[in-house]
Amino acid sequence: MTLTTWALAAALLAPLQAKKDPKAEFPTRWAAVAKRVAQRHVALARKCTEKKVHEMAWEEFQRAAALDPSNVDAQLALGRKLDKEKGGWVDTSATKPKKNEGTPAELKVRMKECADERLAMAAKAIGDLETLADWASANQLTEEAKGIWTRILRDYDPTYERALRATGWQLVDGRWVSPEDLARRSAGKQKLADTGDGEVAKDPSALERALGSTLSKRKSAHCFLEGNRSDEEMQELTRICEATRAMYLESFHLDDKALRRTIHGIFFVEHPQYVEFLERGSKLPANEIEDYKRSVNGYVAFGRMEFVNCQDKTTWETVKDDASHMTTHLLLAQQTGLGDNPPWLQEGLAYWFTERMLQTALTKCIRSETSTGDTRGKLDPLDWRKQIADDLAAGTAPPLREVMFSQMTTLSIPKVVKAWSVVDFFLTRQLDPFVAFLGNLKAKMKQEEAMTQAFGGKSLVEIDALWQAYAKER
Ligand SMILES: [Zn+2]
Repeated sequence: MTLTTWALAAALLAPLQAKKDPKAEFPTRWAAVAKRVAQRHVALARKCTEKKVHEMAWEEFQRAAALDPSNVDAQLALGRKLDKEKGGWVDTSATKPKKNEGTPAELKVRMKECADERLAMAAKAIGDLETLADWASANQLTEEAKGIWTRILRDYDPTYERALRATGWQLVDGRWVSPEDLARRSAGKQKLADTGDGEVAKDPSALERALGSTLSKRKSAHCFLEGNRSDEEMQELTRICEATRAMYLESFHLDDKALRRTIHGIFFVEHPQYVEFLERGSKLPANEIEDYKRSVNGYVAFGRMEFVNCQDKTTWETVKDDASHMTTHLLLAQQTGLGDNPPWLQEGLAYWFTERMLQTALTKCIRSETSTGDTRGKLDPLDWRKQIADDLAAGTAPPLREVMFSQMTTLSIPKVVKAWSVVDFFLTRQLDPFVAFLGNLKAKMKQEEAMTQAFGGKSLVEIDALWQAYAKER
């Protein structure tokens, strides 16, 4: 045979003998990788045991056994025995985790050593898994590949870039955003794009008569906005208020007949215009007007379904955020019939909607009792998922009860972030109990009873645990 015919024969033969079905081959390949990674966990567990960091060792043995049930070392270390009848390893009375041994100072050092070992092990495990994920992708096993990438993020490194990309995360303004959040945000943007911006209101308003000047005015199905901003700006604000309402109804599965009171928004650009309004156009009691001039640039009046915004030294982004934030407050007030809804609920909901709609959380109704102004830290919803994850890992997330019973003045940043996350959990996973809770508030039930009853008798601690499980998986 000539060289050419050899090559031809080889090319013809190769597909015939080698091409196994990748789908059928995957389980074998996975078993081999799982076996190797399980051995890595066992090796790490042994090092932890030597250092008497038994709790970490226990976790590592468990992971090894979960990955590769035939790993005898891991099973024996977990105090299990082989049950021939059941055909597997079963727990015995010896299956109990041991407490770490040593003084707190010693343990601190040894736990750090173990944590470093774990990081080194994780890097190697990622290498093993990644090779298989690449093979799966190269063989069009999309779901299998995704499963491995998800496992890398969950068990070894939640910030591993290739895994984030492969599972649909995107880098937005320097932060990774999950596929679910990307979908919700684009739904928010779509809602905004789909919403009308009302029409110019021609007749003079009560406020114009009181001020003796003309304002830009727009009227839409559920909103009436006026102020000394351009008509173009008023159009955008109208769209934001209407879209917030539409999204609110959608999120609570309410039909369009619900929450129909007209929302009245009033907008000023400069502080002196706002002061003039306070003196001549607002319906505030005289003794409150001085306070409002000094301390705040706007307010919300639940009885009149009205909010007032003055941009002053803030940005246009902040004005837009405020329009959505205050609309949310007024809708909640309509829903529960209460002017003084619990602060965590008001703020948590408002931030949830501004994040969806505008990806901002710039309005601060909260004033800390221990500090003023900017020392409260920046509220950037893009950082919140990470902050929650960090708080959970460090065990510093404030308990639900503390969040629920905070006043506006004591609702600190970690509590606000938790309030937002609890609202996220309730709206996306616990809508029926959430709606029942609001109904109970409307019926004048106290918060704890209202929530416990809505959640079928679960205590606040139990509801908090449900939230934790939800927050951890994200
Ligand atoms: Zn607020």
